[in-house]
Amino acid sequence: MASDAGGEWVTLAVVIKTQGRRGEVATELHTDVPGRFRQGMRLWVLLKDGERREVTVEDLWPHKSFLVLKFGGIDSLSDAELLVKAELQLPLAERAALEPGWTYLSDLIGCTVFDGAREIGAIEDVQFGAGEAPLLVVKSGAKLPYEIPFAEAFLEKLDLERRQVRMKLPEGLLDVNAKSSGQWPVARRSSERVITDWPLTTGNWFKTGLAMKIDILTIFPDFFRGPLDYGIVRRARETGLVDVGIHDLRAYTKDKHRTVDDRPFGGGEGMVLKPEPIFECLEALGDVASRESRLSASATQSVILLSAQGRRLDQALAAKLSGLERIVLICGRYEGVDERISEHLADREVSIGDYVLSGGELGAAVIVDTVTRLIPGAVGNQNSTRQESFTESLVEADFAGEGARATLTADAGPSSTCVSGGLLDYPHYTRPAEFRGMAVPEVLVNGNHEQIRSWRRKTALAKTLRNRPDLLERVRLTDEDEELLAEIRLELAQGIDIDREG
Ligand code: SAM
Repeated sequence: MASDAGGEWVTLAVVIKTQGRRGEVATELHTDVPGRFRQGMRLWVLLKDGERREVTVEDLWPHKSFLVLKFGGIDSLSDAELLVKAELQLPLAERAALEPGWTYLSDLIGCTVFDGAREIGAIEDVQFGAGEAPLLVVKSGAKLPYEIPFAEAFLEKLDLERRQVRMKLPEGLLDVNAKSSGQWPVARRSSERVITDWPLTTGNWFKTGLAMKIDILTIFPDFFRGPLDYGIVRRARETGLVDVGIHDLRAYTKDKHRTVDDRPFGGGEGMVLKPEPIFECLEALGDVASRESRLSASATQSVILLSAQGRRLDQALAAKLSGLERIVLICGRYEGVDERISEHLADREVSIGDYVLSGGELGAAVIVDTVTRLIPGAVGNQNSTRQESFTESLVEADFAGEGARATLTADAGPSSTCVSGGLLDYPHYTRPAEFRGMAVPEVLVNGNHEQIRSWRRKTALAKTLRNRPDLLERVRLTDEDEELLAEIRLELAQGIDIDREG
């Protein structure tokens, strides 16, 4: 259906080629805010013939330098072929919000460049070469365009309101019109690439926009020194994919003892965290959506109370949370938290397992970790998170109903080589092939891919049967799976080691 929305559009990506047989396409990003691509996201495809069609992102994952997208209703190679070279767009009004100090490259186009008092010309384009800074292509009358590095050292003032870029250029620079190396594609006039208008050094001009903001409310802020400072979470924080803020609830108390707890009404053991500091801390965050909107089907935020009485965290819930823009985690302590937090402030209670912890901080760290690694771009090879234990299609997962069990489906799962399809992962081995008399299973070194696939599926089924038989009740098993399970049960009865024999 051609979209009738008029006005200007911003291009987030261009389809480069088809990818796979189910209608997936590999796209080149034309945005510096890759975190805005999410399951369920609505986009417009501008086809080669000028027609614009609305599509919904069903699934996505990075592959090499591309972002692979699967749209609803584009289910075959031939459907996908029609999209090659198409632009994936949004109305200009839906451009991502930028942090202060960042500017859309497309907003620079048309601005007049001044060198001191001298007017040089209008910016026609911005190109990325091998140099530290992007090059402004500045056209002046009939002359060849100037290519001026948009470098911190040369920039005096960027005045977008007056459409002016004021620079102080070194003498002679305008005489050298070196061609850019073209390492990066030319910025499209309508792209969502951004640029910083303050310290411009190698690397930071392509900083991504924030994909997710996570705030943790705790009486032990120092607890989080360490757990969030390693590996994937650290990298995601450094590259701006996720921004974690830790807030000390004691800062929101009013008495000189900074009291955060009190005795329970009705008597009984222990102390209970008081409601006032938690409400006030959350309100001080300023931009948390109302509870009503957080409970709606189109929620982009969630305020979570960590609680042993909550819905148990699983991969389906983690995946759904990873699609939100903002999460607030409230950590309880002592006997727990005044129930008015769960009734009127939080929109869900989450437990990380059927046991009682001393506080919610460990649970909050667990949620940050598992959610962060699912944000596109956090893990080098996003496919690796798609094939891990528990991972399944989340299309039908029921997120809104607290306590409701996710509907578990296995789209590419059971039939594909590696995807766990909601089961436990298969066993992994690495070099050396033989260690202290322990050899890796022969099937993994014989190079027969079909045998390896079948062995992996069978050992995943066997491990799931042994350790988590409940998962087998919840996933859709293929005929091959049923046959493998029958074999496994027979072999178990005969005492055969399945991991070895396959
Ligand atoms: N009286 C509570 C009960 O029996 O459910 C236990 C309170 S616990 C000692 C203190 C805090 O630890 C809770 O308020 C909660 O924030 C956190 N907590 C304990 N177990 C948890 C779990 N399994 N998952 C998430 N948070 C937990």
